[in-house]
Amino acid sequence: MTPTEAGTNSTTCDLVVVGAGFAGLACARRAAERGLSVLVLDRKSEPGERIHTTGILVKEAWEEWAVPAELVRRIDRVRVYSPSHQSVDLRHEDYFFMATDTARLMRHLAAETRRAGAEIRFGERYRGASRNSDTLSLNGSGVRCRFLVGADGAQSEVAASFGLDRNLRLLKGMEWEFEPSEVDGDSLHCFLDPKHAPGYIGWVVPGVRATQVGLAAHRDARADIGGFVASIESIFGLSGRRVLEKRGGLIPVGGVLRNFFRDRVLLVGDAAGMVSPLTAGGIHKAYRFGKLAGDAIADHLERGGPHPGTVVRRAYPRLALKHLARWSYDRLPVARALETGILTRDLFRRLAERVFFDRLNGQL
Ligand SMILES: Cc1cc2nc3c(=O)[nH]c(=O)nc-3n(C[C@H](O)[C@H](O)[C@H](O)COP(=O)(O)OP(=O)(O)OC[C@H]3O[C@@H](n4cnc5c(N)ncnc54)[C@H](O)[C@@H]3O)c2cc1C
Repeated sequence: MTPTEAGTNSTTCDLVVVGAGFAGLACARRAAERGLSVLVLDRKSEPGERIHTTGILVKEAWEEWAVPAELVRRIDRVRVYSPSHQSVDLRHEDYFFMATDTARLMRHLAAETRRAGAEIRFGERYRGASRNSDTLSLNGSGVRCRFLVGADGAQSEVAASFGLDRNLRLLKGMEWEFEPSEVDGDSLHCFLDPKHAPGYIGWVVPGVRATQVGLAAHRDARADIGGFVASIESIFGLSGRRVLEKRGGLIPVGGVLRNFFRDRVLLVGDAAGMVSPLTAGGIHKAYRFGKLAGDAIADHLERGGPHPGTVVRRAYPRLALKHLARWSYDRLPVARALETGILTRDLFRRLAERVFFDRLNGQL
């Protein structure tokens, strides 16, 4: 059901979703499929503009979403490098990742969401909202709704405007896209590199139409992507290749926020801190819990079901072990221990396999 125009400049709908990313589109699509009138607002001028993610999908996400084959490239193996570039190959029978052409994937997801009946307005920024008796009015837009979802990323303005919690533990990620080459192989290459990527890792992904080279580091640390690219020159020979695009963004790794909802407002995806604290993967979680939120909002508005926030909180995994692993990785010199042999390759392989191929909560 599409939102109704109650005058030239006014729209009334059941649900407004701020953010047409993975979380927002999943929520909007599901809520529209359930018969709600849904409006999505995004400040970008079009879907797929200014991508800020590597866009790798875990197997479960790819299977669930039925992404068209031309938008993905299968990756069966992970190669993990120590700081001196010794490597171990990890592989798990019948597990894989999908690199994506993320800009086109976002256009595909936006089209699917529109097909389900939601309206999406690009080029419209959320600027706060005020409460009426049983609706919310969005400032400066003439839009009223019964329920509002903030799917507006790690630094959510919806969270700020409703006094909800904000993400405080953040990694900063950056990525350069290079012309592809045969030498990149078909593995996801991950580098333990405390010099250039303190607190996280560097990576090389043979993507759909480009090779993506990136790293993430603690927000306050100095991340050096130029130094990282130079340090892997002997493996990939990147200096002779054209850089096609540069991008970056913040990744919340502090876990799901304590207060991510209140009456008639709910945060999902990065806005709510729904990212694996260890691997920093958030796409599958954004999509999965966005969809769950869409269902729960329909139940709440149409059938008097519980607040969607309580439904999402109950379903969200606790991830205590991943938080512990994140804590350890932040504090223990894993890369140095591997290099000096304190951490044996065999033990490291087993730990790394748990990180990359944990099928129950597999999030990259
Ligand atoms: C460098 C990098 C690499 C990553 N690689 C991976 C990976 O390979 N695999 C993986 O699973 N995860 C990865 N992540 C994490 C993943 O990208 C996020 O968890 C995921 O994109 C979260 O989706 P989302 O919909 O919650 O938020 P977002 O994708 O951030 O979408 C938020 C949307 O809200 C819009 N918006 C923001 N503010 C407003 C406003 N005021 N008004 C209107 N619209 C607004 C934005 O324009 C945006 O479209 C990576 C992150 C980074 C930074």
